[in-house]
Amino acid sequence: MVDVKVVEGDCFDRALSKEELNLMVKVSWFLLSLHKGWKLWNKLDTITVEIILPDSDKLGKVHRGKNKGSDAGGCAISETATFRMRADLSGEKALSIIFHEIVHLMWPEDRKWSENAVSTLTAHFKPLATEMFNLLMEKASPYKRAAWIAHGQMSYHREIQNDDYNNAQWTKTGVTTKGAKYHPRVKANDLFFENLTRIEQESLRGLEAKQEA
Ligand SMILES: [Zn+2]
Repeated sequence: MVDVKVVEGDCFDRALSKEELNLMVKVSWFLLSLHKGWKLWNKLDTITVEIILPDSDKLGKVHRGKNKGSDAGGCAISETATFRMRADLSGEKALSIIFHEIVHLMWPEDRKWSENAVSTLTAHFKPLATEMFNLLMEKASPYKRAAWIAHGQMSYHREIQNDDYNNAQWTKTGVTTKGAKYHPRVKANDLFFENLTRIEQESLRGLEAKQEA
């Protein structure tokens, strides 16, 4: 998981809390890590967010499309894995800009990006990013976490003599998976045979017949 560093560019104030900003960056990074192109992506250990005054020259201008020439909401600086972001952004707009700038930062180094591809990916992932952000903000905010830690402290400091499994880990939470089929009764050899092509199977049978003869 990526580390998030928030630095003040030319502004000491911001519309997002540090927790919200941190989570938006992490959710964006995480969702991109699931993208099929991930092996090509620039996997960053740390992303720095620089907070910038809304009318600052440091943000630059939108250089394409119908908003060309207007002040940009963010700007990515690949060399330092940093993106600048307007201090007054919050909610929906903030997540869109953050996701977009992170796509820029993580874009494969040897490939040309296009604003069209970056914004299409942003649009594709934004609904899921929103869902994850809202869920984690609600369930894992610092206050909730403080309560969990306080509640779990005893188990962290348990004496070794008293050590035992806590079967609460098996309490059902409704996880569902639709993974590969599992064939517990098929022996490894059968499975190996099944996975061969018909021609390979026939030549193997021929070989066995020869050995038996
Ligand atoms: Zn862009």
